Amino acid sequence: MTDASHRDHPESILVSGCGIAGLGLALAFGGSAHPVTILDRDPPPPDGSPEDVFATWERRGATQLRHSHVFLGRLTTLIRTRYPALMDELFREGARVLCFKDGLSPALKPVYTPAPGDEDLQILFSRRTTLESVIRRFVTRFDNIRFVTDAGVRGLVLQRDASAIRATGLNVEMDGQTQTLSADIVVDASGRNTNFPDWLRAEGVEVSEEHSPAGILYFTRHYRLRDGMEEPPRDLAPLGGDLGYIKYAVFPADNRHFSITLATPDIETNLRTAIMRPEIFQGLCENLIGCKAWVADEISVPVSAIYAMGNLESLWRSYLRGGEAQVLNFFAVGDAAVRTNPLYGRGCSTGMVHAHLLKTVLDEIHDPRQRAIVLEQRTHAALRPFYDAMVHQDRAAIRRARYERNPQHRPRLRARVTQNFVENGIGPATRGNMDVARAFSRAFHMIDDPSGWLKRPDTLMTILSYWARPKAWKQANGLYPPVLGPSRQEMLSKLGLPA
Ligand SMILES: Cc1cc2nc3c(=O)[nH]c(=O)nc-3n(C[C@H](O)[C@H](O)[C@H](O)COP(=O)(O)OP(=O)(O)OC[C@H]3O[C@@H](n4cnc5c(N)ncnc54)[C@H](O)[C@@H]3O)c2cc1C
Repeated sequence: MTDASHRDHPESILVSGCGIAGLGLALAFGGSAHPVTILDRDPPPPDGSPEDVFATWERRGATQLRHSHVFLGRLTTLIRTRYPALMDELFREGARVLCFKDGLSPALKPVYTPAPGDEDLQILFSRRTTLESVIRRFVTRFDNIRFVTDAGVRGLVLQRDASAIRATGLNVEMDGQTQTLSADIVVDASGRNTNFPDWLRAEGVEVSEEHSPAGILYFTRHYRLRDGMEEPPRDLAPLGGDLGYIKYAVFPADNRHFSITLATPDIETNLRTAIMRPEIFQGLCENLIGCKAWVADEISVPVSAIYAMGNLESLWRSYLRGGEAQVLNFFAVGDAAVRTNPLYGRGCSTGMVHAHLLKTVLDEIHDPRQRAIVLEQRTHAALRPFYDAMVHQDRAAIRRARYERNPQHRPRLRARVTQNFVENGIGPATRGNMDVARAFSRAFHMIDDPSGWLKRPDTLMTILSYWARPKAWKQANGLYPPVLGPSRQEMLSKLGLPA
């Protein structure tokens, strides 16, 4: 079906959830002929500055809202190229971008020359509250998009006949009463805690799911730069790193804010309990070279509690059975269908991409069975390689965290060679060679396939040539990162925690 024919037969769309995927749908369908109603159990963002929104927006439906968020090139490029006015609005509200050049190693930065495609490798720095509230305000201006807030979706309305089960609406609780809203298309964008799979299973629908643990717990604290102070230079240490027993990342944000996330493996029981104590969180940051300068008392001041989040896992969900659609006119996008470890910062890009994929499928295909099948195929093509790569990395990180607790552990030969290749080949090559840095960055930002870059003969040859060079040469040329922090035993002893 083309856009023109849609104008003749616009389909009404009911969306459960106004997080990132719901907002992605609002952007994608904004200005189209389809009337779209987006329901959310939470209240709307308060009017006011980004500070007011951050301080007061109640968001029980998206409990990750006040955790650190960074928005990768895939999402930033989508906004910049399709919705430039939105990008301008984000900048006006204090969001910023980090360009490819800004993220280069000290060895590469001075020799950088721009190349086509580098503009796609920009990270958007913004608190999630700022991003969400600005997008929300932007899409509210489309006549065909309607938001209904404080509206909890309580059930999916289905119609059965001999040939199919069709979604026809939602039961929604508003003002203490349950109402049924009807639509041609129903979309689940309710995020990680969606109830739709349970509701559909109860109706005999087979929901297939793959789960894989992230193996970590997430701890976030927000800070503001003191008046007159600037962010520490980024060349001193990487903004993110993995020490096995702890991972850290600094997330610059809008309006002189930044946040720090520390992630501990599930099995670090003492550390993960103690980390909620402000003095332990601060002590960890002061001992991690990438965080130390940011949390110095003269530079910044903490402006939030320490937020914790667990139960993190990757999930791939499908409503097809044997490749065939089971429920017609029903689709799931974002975390409700594909969820990944937040550490990689890919969930919001995934949700936005997924929402836009649904728009193209509904535009191009009229047959409801085909729509379900094609959306699944395109989701697979666009997102599955990243999902698989992240699950693979999570499994390796879980193993590493286990070994980290045992100083006697000696990895097997294959593991030692892989680690050596990463540390002395891939790492130095991404810091010393512009083409490798670009290829790595394109995969990191979800622009290119996550592992394809490593298989390209030219890239692989360059990496191998770096691997073969003497360590002393690589050290002299600044191709190794600094030591990120003390060993596990040292850190725990510095913090007065039992090992
Ligand atoms: C700790 C943490 C840190 C993260 N950091 C990053 C990051 O740095 N970068 C990144 O790209 N991604 C990150 N992510 C992932 C990202 O937050 C999600 O992938 C993204 O929010 C998914 O969007 P969504 O719209 O599918 O779900 P959500 O954004 O969670 O939105 C779901 C919406 O549905 C509503 N809802 C739920 N149930 C109902 C109901 N019954 N009735 C009505 N409304 C309902 C909720 O109120 C909510 O508004 C992080 C995730 C976590 C957990």
